[in-house]
Amino acid sequence: MKISFFGAAREVTGSCFCVEFENKRVLIDCGLQQGGSNGFGQTFPFHPGEIDYVIITHAHIDHSGRLPLLVKQGFKGSIYATEPTCKLLDIMLRDSAHIQELEALWASRKKRRAGTTAPEPLYTMEDALRVFPLLVLCGYRDVTRISDEFSFSFTDAGHLLGSAYVELWLTEDDKRKKIVFSGDIGTPGHPMIRTPEYIDEADVVVMESTYGDRNHEDTFDTVTELAKVIENTLAKGGNVVCPSFAIGRTQDLLYHIREIKERGLVQGYPDFLVYLYSPLAKAATKLYSEELTDYLNDETLALIDSGIQPLYFEGLHIIETSEDSKRLNDDRTPKVIISSSGMCDAGRIRHHLKHNLWRQECAVVFTGFQALGTLGRTIVDGVVSSVSLFGEEIAVRCQIHNFRNMSSHADREELLKWIDSFKKRKPECVFVVHGEDQTCKNFALRLVEQDYKAIAPKYSSIYDLETYEPIFEGKELVRRSEMDRERRDSPVFQRLMLAGMRLVEVISRNKGGTNKDLAKFADQVDSLSNKWDR
Ligand SMILES: [Zn+2]
Ligand SMILES: [Zn+2]
Repeated sequence: MKISFFGAAREVTGSCFCVEFENKRVLIDCGLQQGGSNGFGQTFPFHPGEIDYVIITHAHIDHSGRLPLLVKQGFKGSIYATEPTCKLLDIMLRDSAHIQELEALWASRKKRRAGTTAPEPLYTMEDALRVFPLLVLCGYRDVTRISDEFSFSFTDAGHLLGSAYVELWLTEDDKRKKIVFSGDIGTPGHPMIRTPEYIDEADVVVMESTYGDRNHEDTFDTVTELAKVIENTLAKGGNVVCPSFAIGRTQDLLYHIREIKERGLVQGYPDFLVYLYSPLAKAATKLYSEELTDYLNDETLALIDSGIQPLYFEGLHIIETSEDSKRLNDDRTPKVIISSSGMCDAGRIRHHLKHNLWRQECAVVFTGFQALGTLGRTIVDGVVSSVSLFGEEIAVRCQIHNFRNMSSHADREELLKWIDSFKKRKPECVFVVHGEDQTCKNFALRLVEQDYKAIAPKYSSIYDLETYEPIFEGKELVRRSEMDRERRDSPVFQRLMLAGMRLVEVISRNKGGTNKDLAKFADQVDSLSNKWDR
């Protein structure tokens, strides 16, 4: 019995793991790589035709976005997921195929003009449509028995509608093992989503560690803080731009904004306008409000019972066409704009950033984890004064807010609580995945300190599930964005960038200093910036 790590190994995207037993291969998740490339791209390091079963933990694209490619390259088996996941996949994979086709079309126009060969899309709508007949709907806590050697079930992970931990029971040579895959672990108190459940026994656990190195702030109240940002920005005549994942985070934002309006928290502009442009977000919002209500938490169901639509409110405009979305940029009325993608690496949000990033009076609110190499991460890290969008350098002058607490991922304390809940049978081995390189390694060390055998496997590594020794050590990731940056920037410019990053570190180390010192420091930094901002 062995396990291979084909994605989300020392990085947060591209979840894809394979368990082999009795000559059968089960793939857990089949996610898209985001943030450019990890140096290995979207290619599978295995033959999809040799996979027997696929199980999907939840519908987020970093867990499911390569399913059409898997089918295109020869996978013919069944794909098991919960009912909400299957319904969300139906809209999400169509949207993803549409984006792949569009991107290939744009790239092919460019290539043709340059006289080189046009690239193929990663997959097409036709490939996505071939995924749906393979989907098998499963209920939470129902055990699906495939054979004497193999059964599995889904348990609510409280991260997204339909999200689940997968529990696998496998037998090989009369030896039985229970393996639990965490998928993404949710956080309690999240809007609309039920509280994450716990599991109390396993032999092996494969767990995520996105926020394995930090805790969410207890005192941060999302609704009040968001209301403040909206009030202050509208007062200056600016727009609030929210890059948002179409499934999950957009619905959270709509839920919070409805509450802000109901409680009259934006006093100066109670009738403020909110524009949502993302055909996928629109479809997902409809699913949340109509077909998937059975899966909502009690608080949301109580709202619906009292006649309140949790995701719709006065002043919400759902935009249908990209022409209408473009028109928003000419309309100077201050407003809130929600668009995808959440990490700003594709989609309409890039146009809205182009028109708002350079305006001091505007604000950009990030609400989700920004993976390394994405435009969102570059902006959030605050290490650049401008970004390149559609071939133009756009200055970053607006207010940047990072609402980490809106995350639907467990923080470090919650992750530790989750792994400590395996009380009936403590896992013999924990594989730490779905976190950045250092985070995975640190979280694994933390578990070792607490007497677990914990490993942060490398990309494409293979482990024996009897001895937990590596059969293949795996490869170090090389980020394309880092390689590109090295190639593009002169050594002197790289030195300047490093000096800038050091300055940001020095600033954060001065937190808590006297007002006099901080003001002096701020004046000096300002005068340096004024001197060089030309
Ligand atoms: Zn997720
Ligand atoms: Zn994820």
